[in-house]
Amino acid sequence: MIPAAFDYQKVKTVDEAIAALAGGDGKLLAGGHSLIPVMKLRMNRPSKLVDITGLSALKGTKEEDGEIVIGAAVTHADIFYDNLIKNRLPFFIRAASLIGDLQVRNHGTIGGSLAHADPAADWPALVLAADGSIEVQGKAGKRRIKAVDFFTGLFTTSLQDGEIIISVRIPVPAEGAKTSYQKFEQPASRFAIVGCAVMRFPNSKTNIAFTGVSDNAFRDANAEAEISGKPLNNESIEAAANSALRNVNVLSDHFASEEYRRHLAKVYLKKALEAVM
Ligand code: FAD
Repeated sequence: MIPAAFDYQKVKTVDEAIAALAGGDGKLLAGGHSLIPVMKLRMNRPSKLVDITGLSALKGTKEEDGEIVIGAAVTHADIFYDNLIKNRLPFFIRAASLIGDLQVRNHGTIGGSLAHADPAADWPALVLAADGSIEVQGKAGKRRIKAVDFFTGLFTTSLQDGEIIISVRIPVPAEGAKTSYQKFEQPASRFAIVGCAVMRFPNSKTNIAFTGVSDNAFRDANAEAEISGKPLNNESIEAAANSALRNVNVLSDHFASEEYRRHLAKVYLKKALEAVM
């Protein structure tokens, strides 16, 4: 299908992008791999697209003040080839390799993925498990939103109208921290039917986040409490898996029923914990 007519503006600075969004129903255009499909289906009809692909402020990765900073316009493929990310956050490399196909990985961006907040997207689970926060800028200036406060529902976030994601900021993990991302994927799109991200620290604190399971990606506090502070072995991993998804409203669709998703979540949590043993 062909999208409804729209104006197009390519901006050179973040301030210009903020001004271009002000007071209208315009949308930012990053990789376009989520926005353009929904526009073609006419589920979204912005009157203007503000192209942010040229903004250098949104590009690159760096380590700064004890954090790994990933620009919002960094593509999935950029992450896959990034040495800083490879050394500090190896589960990001695995997740990047599992996203879509080559075209999606070459164009889709981490900022676009977080803003779109697809319930089956991969990055939300990883940013949650890594205790990340999202740096945004709008008319009122810059602010940071913790990942646990960012994803608020199906395709919804705590971004305010006119705000732009500038970067994703992850605290540098303690030396010896281990990470894992395990995903049961939809075979055509490779979106997560169930994705589980784990970060295990040397003091045995364990962060566990799921995607694909519910309206939005989330940290599983019960599973974390069950396994944190304990050695990883068959019994403790089984107990953590059994405590997962308590009080979670689990999705049911033509890819997987609620019962099947619950089963998969346990299996994939076990795989993720076994990988950080
Ligand atoms: P866009 O499509 O350009 O934008 C998406 C939304 O985010 C828009 O509302 C836009 O206005 C907003 N936005 C973009 N950048 C910013 C910003 N900096 N600040 C604020 N708002 C912003 N994803 C997965 O996680 N796993 C998969 O396996 C997977 N498979 C896919 C397979 C196919 C065939 C396709 C088409 C997509 C797939 N995706 C998958 C989604 C893909 O990763 C998208 O690229 C990503 O979700 C959106 O990033 P984008 O840069 O393309 O954003």
